[in-house]
Amino acid sequence: MEQTPIRRIVIAGGGTAGWMTAAALARTLGKILDITLVESEEIGTVGVGESTIPTIVTYHRLLEINEQAFMAATNATFKLGISFENWRDVGEDYIHSFGVTGKDHWTAGFQHFWLKGRERGLATEFGDYCLELRAAQENRFAHLPKQGMNYAFHIDASVYARFLRDFSERYGVRRVEGRIAEVRADRDAGRIRSLRLASGDEIEGDLFIDCTGFRALLIGQALGVGVEDWSHWLHCDSAVAVQTEAVGPAVPYTRVVAHGAGWRWRIPLQHRIGNGIVFGSRFMDDDTATRTLLEQIEGSPLAEPRLIRFKPCQRHQAWSGNCVAIGLSSGFLEPLESTSIHLIQRGILRLLQMFPGNGISPADVAEYNRQVAGEVEHIRDFLILHYHVTRRADTPFWRTCREMEIPASLRHRIDLFRETGRVFRAPGELFTESSWTQVMLGQGLVPEQRHPVADLMGDQELGGFLNGIRAGIERTLAQLPPHQTYVEQYCAAA
Ligand code: FAD
Repeated sequence: MEQTPIRRIVIAGGGTAGWMTAAALARTLGKILDITLVESEEIGTVGVGESTIPTIVTYHRLLEINEQAFMAATNATFKLGISFENWRDVGEDYIHSFGVTGKDHWTAGFQHFWLKGRERGLATEFGDYCLELRAAQENRFAHLPKQGMNYAFHIDASVYARFLRDFSERYGVRRVEGRIAEVRADRDAGRIRSLRLASGDEIEGDLFIDCTGFRALLIGQALGVGVEDWSHWLHCDSAVAVQTEAVGPAVPYTRVVAHGAGWRWRIPLQHRIGNGIVFGSRFMDDDTATRTLLEQIEGSPLAEPRLIRFKPCQRHQAWSGNCVAIGLSSGFLEPLESTSIHLIQRGILRLLQMFPGNGISPADVAEYNRQVAGEVEHIRDFLILHYHVTRRADTPFWRTCREMEIPASLRHRIDLFRETGRVFRAPGELFTESSWTQVMLGQGLVPEQRHPVADLMGDQELGGFLNGIRAGIERTLAQLPPHQTYVEQYCAAA
């Protein structure tokens, strides 16, 4: 193990990844670290990434970020899930919510009881047994005192980075504006020595965090760490994004609407709407994608549509030598389940847990990379599920998705659910049993069997059980204010 103490941290890049990393390092270890962040206004950020998942609430709690102040500053709205439209088939939709559906028995998930209820004519839609899902459908939201709701946010990404910059600077982060012209590295030893800026200034450090986005200046270009390409499983590699004026009250969910060669998003903020179309360039050209997007948006565009290319991939090692890649530099799959900002958080948390205060340990590096690999493969499988399990066969894109070979890990999960109705979550996996169940049922995968424990209930008992859950949810729902009203009042009190 190297015994060089790590004190000087250099963060290259000031997008969401750079500033989230700076804020967390400064808030936790700022007293013993000297943290510098270099960013270039001339280059700018990727400018998308506005839909989050509930783990961001935890990130804010850990950093003691005031939620009202954060929401007011970033024009944020609440998010309770994602509405998947045209995914199972054209004209059909479902919501993947952040909530838990129904009540599990210790031997079997709620879906087993629901399946029996459906067979006996006692159950309504699966989503009717989930508070967050019903609140999303009814456009309602509130922080509930007792059981709470599982929620995330829609945020203005550029303002969020600015918000975290102010936070980080208060905790001592030094910001340097300038273009990195050269990364000075000893490639054979796998070490970065310094960043030379276009101004001629040189920034030395002990540990470098690569947050330079798709450019991956440090981990990719300087250290030569490659990526594992997953474009044979995830066929979208392009997006066009455009922001529009807000029309009507903001809804508490992201819409993702499938089209013939991918999907488009709609993310409502307080002051505007983020829109974009994601597509496979092998199946749709840029002009058609832009036209399709512009035909579908509501409200006037606030800027010209922007084309973004990406490759669905994961860096072979996110930590190599004295460089840790966090954010797009470490890889990007695609934005369907809003997992990228979550992975930034996980990278930061992991780095803090394994912080190499007294020198970089190869065992830490190996463990970090092992954990990242497992986590990302799990998310990859979940994303592929949405494309592969579908009744759509109306275009070459959907036929390719249906017919392709899928990872063995996903094959197993699908077979298990189809044959038995069971789903298990291994430690460290992001998506819960509830998420897998919602999406598998939502995509049209119906189990052939159910757990025998569900058959121990007679019709009367089962009907009472199902009705009781639904009635409780409807009672809570009736007390919730409209989402838009709640956001306005919450932010006004910031
Ligand atoms: P960037 O934002 O690109 O920042 C890179 C930084 O590096 C910038 O500050 C830049 O100026 C700096 N830099 C680069 N080169 C140099 C240089 N030579 N000198 C100095 N500075 C330099 N994630 C979600 O969680 N939810 C979503 O809804 C979502 N939607 C997305 C939609 C699309 C189409 C795409 C492509 C991504 C989406 N993401 C989403 C991912 C999300 O945008 C990113 O994870 C997030 O913005 C972090 O990006 P970053 O900070 O790694 O990179």
